[in-house]
Amino acid sequence: MDRRNIELKIFGLIAGVAAGVILLAGFALIIATRHADIREREYEQTLVGNGLRQRAREVQTALNPYVIWDEAVIKLDNQFDREWARQNIGASLGGALGYRVVFVLDREGAPIYGHVNGHDVAPDAYGRYAAQTARLVTEVRRIEADPRQVAALRAVHKSRVELIGGEPVLITVSLIRPDLKAKTRGEHAPLLVTGVPVANTVVKAFSDRFLLQHAHIGVVTAAQFKTDDAQVQLSRIADGRRIVLRWTPRKPGEELLRSATPMLGTALVAAVLGAWLLFRVTRRAAKKLLLSEAEAKHLSLHDPLTGLANRTLFTDRLVHAHAVLRRKPGHLGVLCIDLDRFKEVNDTYGHDAGDQLIREVARRLKAICRETDTICRLGGDEFAVIQPDTNPAGAATLAQRIVEGLSGEVDLTIGRAQLSCSVGVAVVPDAEQGQAELLRQADVALYRAKEAGRGRFAFFEPEMDAALRLRKGLERDLRTALENDGLKVAYQPLTDAKGVIVGVEALARWTHPERGDIAPAIFIPLAESCGLIGAVGSAVFRRACYDSLRWSGLEVSVNVSAIQLSNPGFVDEMVAVLAETGARADVFMLEITETALLKDSDGVHEALRRLKRLGFRLALDDFGTGYASLAYLRRHPIDKLKIDRSFVASLPGNGESLAVAKAIVSLARSLGLKTTAEGVETQAQMDCLVKLGCAEFQGFLLGRPMSADAIAGARELAR
Ligand code: C2E
Ligand code: CA
Ligand code: CA
Repeated sequence: MDRRNIELKIFGLIAGVAAGVILLAGFALIIATRHADIREREYEQTLVGNGLRQRAREVQTALNPYVIWDEAVIKLDNQFDREWARQNIGASLGGALGYRVVFVLDREGAPIYGHVNGHDVAPDAYGRYAAQTARLVTEVRRIEADPRQVAALRAVHKSRVELIGGEPVLITVSLIRPDLKAKTRGEHAPLLVTGVPVANTVVKAFSDRFLLQHAHIGVVTAAQFKTDDAQVQLSRIADGRRIVLRWTPRKPGEELLRSATPMLGTALVAAVLGAWLLFRVTRRAAKKLLLSEAEAKHLSLHDPLTGLANRTLFTDRLVHAHAVLRRKPGHLGVLCIDLDRFKEVNDTYGHDAGDQLIREVARRLKAICRETDTICRLGGDEFAVIQPDTNPAGAATLAQRIVEGLSGEVDLTIGRAQLSCSVGVAVVPDAEQGQAELLRQADVALYRAKEAGRGRFAFFEPEMDAALRLRKGLERDLRTALENDGLKVAYQPLTDAKGVIVGVEALARWTHPERGDIAPAIFIPLAESCGLIGAVGSAVFRRACYDSLRWSGLEVSVNVSAIQLSNPGFVDEMVAVLAETGARADVFMLEITETALLKDSDGVHEALRRLKRLGFRLALDDFGTGYASLAYLRRHPIDKLKIDRSFVASLPGNGESLAVAKAIVSLARSLGLKTTAEGVETQAQMDCLVKLGCAEFQGFLLGRPMSADAIAGARELAR
């Protein structure tokens, strides 16, 4: 089976399963909501049924005063009094209470009084209603025949809804009985027949009470009366039709479904998306599995991103070129290429942009190199080229073309990136050295090219090895010194215009066991480049914390490298050291350089703000040498500017320096910042700076960096 087929099968399977799951969920939901709707309708029906019965009882109860009444028994049965009936039955029930139909039947069931539509009528008008009331009369008489039932019931009524003149009317037949001592003449009591239209007002009151929508009375045939409609049967009339109360049932399920639809839609989209992603993942896995052997081999020897040779193939080719060199004398060249500041592209634009840049570099390298050269991506932003059968001049030409070819702007989808590279070249005239050594030499040369300022190439020279070894050794020794508490801290005083010490600057000191004192200008950059600056910085800060506890009222300055600031854990570490030593943040002035602000990342800004909140103050060190603009000063919470000593050195004679110093002091004043002049060596410089309005001074004139004890002594002396 070919790959396409398998892919289709897999996709089909996933899509099928996803569709199945979605359909099933949909079904379940619909069934659940329908069920909810049915339950709601059944509930409403019960409610309405109960309500109707209640309503009938209310009608009946309203009749009680008329049908359980000694006087009614006397006037209607014992001795029929027509006038009494007219006044007490007809006028009040038919008039004031709104009964449409009122009849009195005697003990034989014959009509003796009638009142219809507000007027007395001849008793025989009852004939129109006899058919509809016959059943009720029979039922009432049956109860009357059972003395136990009569005794149990206070009043005997029977009601049902009937169509009268096409209109639904609630007919009630009630037994007229005494309430105290009157007695009927015969065995049977007279009957009161009343009819009250189940008018729309009643329905309205009813639907208001039960919150029914569109409630109305209707007459339906048996076939139309389906039990699953929202209706309650009021009665079944003689022709088999039914009088019903119908309404539009509430459909909570449907409402739920409607309100859940957007959510469901989203879920559906998510499910489809999920299925698609799953498919992609599976497809990728399947692809890997199904790669033909040739493809697998190609993959194992090439870089997937660029299609260039990978390290394995590179080594293979290098060994081969080396073997050729043995048989046929000539030169073999190896070039190591490293993109300058590639990490920044990756960090600012993201990995996709980084990948794009790498692919572009590969494309250009292919265009520059010959067919016989092997181009390889060693990893990350490192490339290498094997140039067989060359000479130093040929290698230099290629290196130069690469440096030029990989420079300038590159358009990435996300923006424009500046491209430049450094190249290290090693060329050997014979097979004397092993191929691994060749690569190492090219790498050393590359390192040198970078050190020399990037964007250039360098050839390997034997003395480079020595320099590199020295550097590596120093790095190792610095690490050891850090582990063994070998770094010391000196403090240089900061004074006011009168020479009174107001603060100190902590400066790292390292005495190498063999080489003696190493200048910070050497080991600080070294620490920065090999990842030790964090350890150096925190060692100095910890020492400064302890020492700060000995001096009261002295501001202690500590240098913070740009690299430290951009480390996300930096502020937390400072807090931890404060806690460990018991020192206070507001004693410290952190000196940062303009380069730290130049990065201007959110991380640096946030770190500075957090430090400020903790109580630290911030100074801009070496001010005037960098690029810090007014905007930077405004954006960051800086407290102090330190005028770089290069300006101070040429004071007071140099007009340019004077102008710069003056400008810095007035800028600081307008921003409400303090100024400290660094590197003050002569009284003339001091006088000049005092005149400019500078408030704080630091330099050999006022005090060299010294031990913590010496600072304490100097303060004693001043007192
Ligand atoms: P910086 O922060 O500008 O420190 C002042 C430097 O100027 C010190 O050099 C100090 O000895 C020197 N100096 C002070 N007064 C005078 C003077 O009157 N004339 C002259 N010519 N120089 C004077 P140092 O101690 O060699 O430090 C050099 C740099 O190393 C510092 O410059 C600072 O950037 C860095 N550094 C020192 N300690 C640390 C540290 O703990 N952490 C970090 N990140 N950097 C440090
Ligand atoms: Ca400093
Ligand atoms: Ca400085």
